[in-house]
Amino acid sequence: MLHDDAAGRLHAVQDQIARATRVAGRAAEEVTLIAVSKTHDAAAIRPLIAAGQRVFGENRVQEAQGKWPALRGETAGIALHLVGQLQSNKAGDAVALFDAIHSVDRSSLVTALAKAMDAADRRPPCFIQVNIGDEPQKGGCPTADLPALLGEARQAALPVAGLMAVPPAGVEPAPYFALLAKLARDHGLAELSMGMSGDVETAVTIGATHVRVGTALFGAR
Ligand SMILES: *Cc1c(COP(=O)(O)O)cnc(C)c1O
Repeated sequence: MLHDDAAGRLHAVQDQIARATRVAGRAAEEVTLIAVSKTHDAAAIRPLIAAGQRVFGENRVQEAQGKWPALRGETAGIALHLVGQLQSNKAGDAVALFDAIHSVDRSSLVTALAKAMDAADRRPPCFIQVNIGDEPQKGGCPTADLPALLGEARQAALPVAGLMAVPPAGVEPAPYFALLAKLARDHGLAELSMGMSGDVETAVTIGATHVRVGTALFGAR
């Protein structure tokens, strides 16, 4: 059910987050709503900014570079999160533009990001993306490789805030969210980037600190 105005859609998602945090005995402020604006242009994004949303997500560096410098010039306090796959040769651009990077999934990217952060003297928090269902076609590091990758990231002084995952499509996501939460706990990581338009409440109930919502805020892509 999609409200026909941006403020209505935003309030509906905020209500879902509030409800789920109440059920879980958490504070609503513990959850950051990332409005995933990929494929949507500035005209579609402005109403959400006008409604008060300040945290946005994009999945392509180049697309974000084309849209966000101008939008940021219009409104102060915008935070931009990269939620899509990152090529190592774009690490410098990503570090310059984004305030958080949710898609660290391999050694070569750890190395490239650490180097880019040193060069820019800018350290946006990172999430290690885990292929939580160990699906062959999916991004993210294999679950079994997480300890080694995390070790490399810490060795490289990458600011690792937590874990991110996209559970397999078409099945109940709760067990995958619970597994990601357990992995984060086991490794002493506080942040959990999980939950999208279809499963925000489930993810928040299980401990999400960042939900990444596109369709429920912008309509279908
Ligand atoms: C597109 C995207 C989302 C948002 O998905 P919706 O189902 O539209 O809410 C969340 N996370 C990632 C990694 C995405 O690429």
